[in-house]
Amino acid sequence: MAYFDNNSTTKPLADVLVAMQDASAKNWANPSSPHRSGGHVRALIERAREEIAQTLDVEPKQLTFTSGATESNNAVISSIAKRQDGSSNNILLSSIEHPSVLETAKFHFSEKIRTFPVNSDGVVQIEDLIELIDQKVPHLVALMAVHNETGVVQPWQEVAQVCRDRGVWFHCDATQWIGKLDPAGLSSCSSFSFSAHKFGGPKGVGALVSNKPISWVKGGGQERETRGGTENFPGIEGMRVAWLHHCCSGYSFDLEESWRDAFEERINYQFTGLKIIGRKAKRLWNTSLLCLPEFNNLDWVSRLDKLGHVVSTGSACSTARDQPSTLSGAIGLNGAESRRLVRVSASTATSKRDWQSLGDAFQKAYIGLQTERKNDGVISL
Ligand code: PMP
Repeated sequence: MAYFDNNSTTKPLADVLVAMQDASAKNWANPSSPHRSGGHVRALIERAREEIAQTLDVEPKQLTFTSGATESNNAVISSIAKRQDGSSNNILLSSIEHPSVLETAKFHFSEKIRTFPVNSDGVVQIEDLIELIDQKVPHLVALMAVHNETGVVQPWQEVAQVCRDRGVWFHCDATQWIGKLDPAGLSSCSSFSFSAHKFGGPKGVGALVSNKPISWVKGGGQERETRGGTENFPGIEGMRVAWLHHCCSGYSFDLEESWRDAFEERINYQFTGLKIIGRKAKRLWNTSLLCLPEFNNLDWVSRLDKLGHVVSTGSACSTARDQPSTLSGAIGLNGAESRRLVRVSASTATSKRDWQSLGDAFQKAYIGLQTERKNDGVISL
C-alpha cells in the first residue's frame, strides 16, 4: 500500500511504538505520587519537556503537554474569551483556519469574529490584515502556519512581527509545520500548537507553547496548574522520540519536493482542466491538492484505494462532518469543484517510486471510472 494521507495522520515510527510500550510496562506510576517510582516518571516527563522546548528555543515552563492541537487551540481561544470584557468580541482569524480554531472562536465569540481573506492560491494577504488590525486593535490574531489541505505556507513570521509591534496576542496553529519544516522562529509567536501524530508520534498527545501562562483544566494542579489530570506519560514519551527523530534528520526536502513536482507535472499533462490548488504559492514539499476535471472525489478515493493508493478528499476533520471545508469557499471554488478535490500528502517515508506509481494509479483509476460510467449508461433488456 502506498499511503498518501499523511496530513491527516502519519504511521507511528517503530521506535515510538517501542518507547510507548516500554513507558506503559515499566513507568506506569503516577508522576504526582511522592514515592520513587512516581518521581522517576515525573523526571522523564520533565526530560521530554526540556528536550522539546530546547529545540523550539522556548523555556520548558512555556510548554504544556495536551491531548493534541485541538485542545491547544481551544485552550488559547477560551482563555482569551475569559480575559476580555465581552463588549467588543474582537478577534481576528484567517478565513481558512482549522475547525478547532474557527468553531471554538464561534462558540466563544459568537458570529462577531472578524476574518481576513486569502487569495485564490489560499495565501493570506498581509496588507489586508494590517488594515483590519489598525481599524480596531483585536484581542487575538490567529493564523495557521501551513494549511492542512493545500500545504500552502502562510506568512506567519510577518504576522507575528506585526502583532508584536502592536502588542496583540498572535496564536499560530503550527500542526502541519512541526515535523515537516524547521521550527526556528516559532518562539516569536505569543502561542503555538502542534500534535504528535502528524510527525510519526502517537495520537492524543501534543502541546501548547505560550509565553503567558494559560490555565484551562481545573483539577489536581498538574502541568503547573494549567491543565489538571494525570499526565499521559506513554504518549509524551512517544512524542519525544518522534520529535528527536525529526530534529536529528534535518529539514532539507528538496528531493522529496522534486518528486511531488514531477507527479504534478505528469498528471497536469494527463488531465485537461485539472487545477492544482496553490501551485503558484510557497507550499509544503509533501502536499498536492488536486481539483480533478471529472468524477466525484469519493469515487477517486475508492478507486485509488482499490489500486493500493491511499489518498483523501481534503481535511479529515471536515470529511467527518460530510461538509466541504471552509477552504473551498475562501479560495473561490464552487460546490461542484469542491466535490472534485483530492488531497495527496506524502511523508519522509514516501519514495520517488511511490510518487511515480501514484501517477500510474490516477491514470488507471480514470480509465476505470470512465468504463464504469459507460456501463452505467447501458440499459440491459
Ligand atoms: N490544526 C491543523 C492545521 C490540523 O491539520 C489538525 C489535524 N487535522 C488539527 C489542528 C487538530 O489536530 P488533532 O486532531 O490532533 O487535535
